[in-house]
Amino acid sequence: MTIEELREELQRINLDLLELLSRRARIVEQVRAVKERDGIPVHVPEREQAMLDALVAANRGPFPDETVRRLFREIFRASVALQEAGRRQTLRVARAEGAPGRIVRIGGTVVGGEPVVIAGPCAVEDEAQMDAVGRRLRDLGVPLLRGGAFKARSSPYAFQGLGRRALEILRETGRRYGLGVVTEVTDTRLVELVAEHADALQIGSRNMHNYELLREAGRAGKPVLLKRGLAATLEEFLWAAEYVVLQGNEQVVLCERGIRTFETQTRNTLDVSAIALLREQTWLPVVADVSHAAGRRDILPALARAALAAGAHGVMVEVHPAPAVARSDAQQQLDLDEFERFLDAAGLRRGNVP
Ligand code: PEP
Ligand code: MN
Repeated sequence: MTIEELREELQRINLDLLELLSRRARIVEQVRAVKERDGIPVHVPEREQAMLDALVAANRGPFPDETVRRLFREIFRASVALQEAGRRQTLRVARAEGAPGRIVRIGGTVVGGEPVVIAGPCAVEDEAQMDAVGRRLRDLGVPLLRGGAFKARSSPYAFQGLGRRALEILRETGRRYGLGVVTEVTDTRLVELVAEHADALQIGSRNMHNYELLREAGRAGKPVLLKRGLAATLEEFLWAAEYVVLQGNEQVVLCERGIRTFETQTRNTLDVSAIALLREQTWLPVVADVSHAAGRRDILPALARAALAAGAHGVMVEVHPAPAVARSDAQQQLDLDEFERFLDAAGLRRGNVP
């Protein structure tokens, strides 16, 4: 045989090997489907070890056992990766390549198209406060009002919200100014009550892992605004959304609100990559809460522009008529005039994008 012929023979064997690997991958895919059906874990190291040992025992050379072990370990690793990728794609909230995003309606407002603004105080404090905010939102063409009634505070000594009274004020303010109302629900026992008063249920960062609350919110018949956990990965975030969607409620908006990092000049770090990645991976709309990300006022327009540039469908921002005397998050809330300037600076005046 000539060298060329030998090379051709080698390449034929390579192609055969490739074909065998592809066949193996198709069987792996069937294994994944069975495992998923029966709830069996993807990766069982003991079984992999036993398979490797059997292969090494069958080795008649010329490769040393260690080489055989390494080659097959690589093949097994690729199979696990394939199974895990397959499992991710089976998430209902996952967006198939090329599939469009979908919209969520909060009150009469579409989230998932042109950028929207959700604004209002950290917490509902009294009627006058909410009236002042609601009126300004209406005047500025901002469609969605936020405000905490049940506050999930890190400290048990901090203001916990006015509860039911706040819900009534929120509903009344929303009606008076034609605004959709978004407010947080912190407990399964409160879901029904909050759903009666609000146009969307917010699940707070501290509750993103509260799966019973996610399920209950998914059954309430209202859109859900789900905030990312303080230290949740994007995969965990999407799983949390999946809990809601599995209840038959596809009206879920994801909210990136900053994650914990080592930086101390901001309260959290707005994860702009997360916005871009979520836009690729899911058909759910994505918004960014710039106030809880920054924990300060001065950089809010920059963060809003960054979020929109990364693909956010809107921005949440805390607004209070007198931030200095606010009962929570005083340092990060904008007053009404600052809010107006914020909208201009972020290019969000009446849905404008820069
Ligand atoms: C809020 O939006 O009122 C709030 C408490 O935010 P987070 O859950 O993101 O901390
Ligand atoms: Mn707040």
